[in-house]
Amino acid sequence: MNIMTMVALRINLTLPSLTDRHRRVLTMLRLTLLSDTQLLLQTPGPAEARTCVLEAPHADTESYRFTQVTEEISARDDPECEKERPYGDRLRVFRGTMLQESTGKELKVVFKVAYDEPCLLLLANEAEIYTEHLVKVQKEYVPRMYGSFVGETDEGKTRVTVLEDWGEELRIPLKVQPVKFRLLVVKALLEIHRRANVVHHDFADRHIVVKTTPTGYWPVLVDFTKALLHPDECLIEWPFKVYALEPAMAHTCHELWDVISEEAELWCPSYLNFFNVLVPVAEVTEPADLLKYTPDWVECSEAQLMAQAKSVYSNIEGFSNIIQRRGEPGVVTPFRS
Ligand SMILES: [Zn+2]
Repeated sequence: MNIMTMVALRINLTLPSLTDRHRRVLTMLRLTLLSDTQLLLQTPGPAEARTCVLEAPHADTESYRFTQVTEEISARDDPECEKERPYGDRLRVFRGTMLQESTGKELKVVFKVAYDEPCLLLLANEAEIYTEHLVKVQKEYVPRMYGSFVGETDEGKTRVTVLEDWGEELRIPLKVQPVKFRLLVVKALLEIHRRANVVHHDFADRHIVVKTTPTGYWPVLVDFTKALLHPDECLIEWPFKVYALEPAMAHTCHELWDVISEEAELWCPSYLNFFNVLVPVAEVTEPADLLKYTPDWVECSEAQLMAQAKSVYSNIEGFSNIIQRRGEPGVVTPFRS
């Protein structure tokens, strides 16, 4: 090991102690890059500092020096409330900065630290997906991964993954974003499917992260801990017509169908569910059109039937309101090349 490289990458993470977290004793976790593929993790305590070397099968080859940790993303809403973190204190996410030695440029980064077996497996899966498959879409539709380091620490086996900090997670639901933005998100997922051959498997608003650029918002997808390879060819017609009737799910990639239709609401429902009867939307121009589909087993008054028909019909009314509010439907074009 070259002694000169021992100081190449250094970070001080301030973590609430894992063993005495209720008294919030702070423990310093220090990470130092030893070489391209080794990260030194130190946990100073009352006794001698415990040091351990984490190996990185997925490391970047550049030299970086960590400068500071600015916040814990996984506990931002309430640092005292571990319930806010889906995996408690066993998988935590921090934000910080590091210096790229060759250019002197300060880079914003995110660190994910995992301690127990289920969380280690999640980060291991994510690191493999990033390294083996997402490389083709990194820095465009997903953030860049700088490295993922694994080894033994006081807490047992530990993994630290270092990623580019792309920006802020989506705070306003995707559904109510402008069409152009929703299309950018769908386009990112589509490229991840088609170019990287990866299915995200945990698509949610909190996994959309947005960078603000001079030309507008630039969303990417994050958290590939549950991602898997696309089992077959990704079937979707592209570009598609916004607010067209949704195509049959059976003939379209399931994740994309779900995201376009349910999460981004860029397709109109093609069927209305009236007492478990699927009525083609094309057959319905007003609530009363649904009444003739009432199944025999339904026993209720005409007023109740009409109330139900109005409620079901409001699903497509909602869509026509959306269309009026956000402009005419059209064919997708406004993407970065
Ligand atoms: Zn697909």
